[in-house]
Amino acid sequence: ACLDRIREHDGAVGAFLKVMDEKALAKAAEVDRKRKAGEDLGLLAGVPVAVKDLLCTEGEVTTCASKMLENFVPPYSSTVIKKLEAADAVIVGKTNMDEFAMGGSTENSALGKTRNPWNTDLVPGGSSGGAAACLAAQMVPLSIGTDTGGSIRQPASFCGVVGLKPTYGRVSRFGLIAFASSLDQIGPMARTAEDTALFLEAMAGHDPQDSTSANVACPLFSKTVDQPLEGLRIGLVKEHFGEGLDSEVEKSVREAVAVYEKLGAKVVDISLPHNKYGIATYYIIAPSEASSNLARFDGAHYGHRCDEATMLEELQKEKEAFEAAGDELGLKRMDTPLIRMYRQSRAEGFGPEVKRRIMLGTYTLSAGYYDAFYLKALKVRRLIREDYDKAFKAVDVIVGPTAPNPAFAAGSKTNDPLAMYLEDLYTVTANLAGIPAISIPCGMTSGGLPVGLHMQAPALEEDRLLRAAYMFQ
Ligand code: GLN
Repeated sequence: ACLDRIREHDGAVGAFLKVMDEKALAKAAEVDRKRKAGEDLGLLAGVPVAVKDLLCTEGEVTTCASKMLENFVPPYSSTVIKKLEAADAVIVGKTNMDEFAMGGSTENSALGKTRNPWNTDLVPGGSSGGAAACLAAQMVPLSIGTDTGGSIRQPASFCGVVGLKPTYGRVSRFGLIAFASSLDQIGPMARTAEDTALFLEAMAGHDPQDSTSANVACPLFSKTVDQPLEGLRIGLVKEHFGEGLDSEVEKSVREAVAVYEKLGAKVVDISLPHNKYGIATYYIIAPSEASSNLARFDGAHYGHRCDEATMLEELQKEKEAFEAAGDELGLKRMDTPLIRMYRQSRAEGFGPEVKRRIMLGTYTLSAGYYDAFYLKALKVRRLIREDYDKAFKAVDVIVGPTAPNPAFAAGSKTNDPLAMYLEDLYTVTANLAGIPAISIPCGMTSGGLPVGLHMQAPALEEDRLLRAAYMFQ
């Protein structure tokens, strides 16, 4: 039924880069056989799952929506994929995303366009835009996203689904193609709090292959999700309701808070004074780490390699031109063939936003600027975390808008990187602090677009977020 649904609707939505029909049907048949034989079944037995195309899947092309990895077939599967396979899930396909997860609209994909199922003139959000869109269009019930600065939560908000970014270290990053390693987390996306709880339970847990994985017991989220939270203290951040916030989004969020009050929650006004430096801090740290992580894509070790014959011919022509002009300096400064191969492969393989991040990151890490930018950003990151520590003494969850606006028109922000970066206003600070956060659908605009409610909790308190989400729905 899911494959039929994909065939019927994905032409208009474009959520998938690849659908693995045969493998999915074979797995479904195997689960069915196990069930009939009375064998033990996994937690997600027979449940169709979509996977964002930056999780390595053995033997299946894994592209990161980049020309650089268009033909990359990983020789191994990420821990999360292995866990889902062991849980008897049926992996149906790989979803579209912003190239290397850099972006907030999925328009940075080099391999396809994804549109918002609520209105196909609009973007689905990003970078996990395909992941959110295939849920909203009811193509699959579960979908994996990743979140470095909001990429699970903002598309969940734009598409009217649930998306949870777990605590840093809760889910293994082994086999996830890295964007910014100190911020990246894999997380569950689904249509309800119960599904999200079950899905997180299946993917979370300690993994010795990821040295940043948290060595703590993983709660059975699906067993507690329906238990209401007594005496819930909700923090409303005064800095969240200022400039840039769409009035209809604000209205929906305030109405959602009133629902919680009716359910017995107490609202406390709080302040996160360093919140306003979130975007600046994130857009120094994330590109810095990205510039280092993406250095491996050089056409030699991994990824796209330029056509060497034309490259060598061009180099020869350049050399002859310098010789004819008697330009000694030009000759001396010429690329060696190996350097030219790196340079040209990267020029051809990476899209404009990825190049922008690499330029930003190499600049902020370079000698002379490191102290002024990167080191300073790390210090502000600490202050942002301390704000949270203080706030969580007075409240149990922090509630606000997930994104400053509902889904926007395709093309409306593509020429304005700063406008696109401001999409992440409310989400990046959870990644900087390493805490869990969820986006749940909380209302609609007058134009019929979903609005997302953002909730944040202290580290390792995903259980609290899921229960709070369940109470609301
Ligand atoms: N929109 C943010 C960025 O472009 C977040 C991306 C993400 O979480 N992967 O970096």
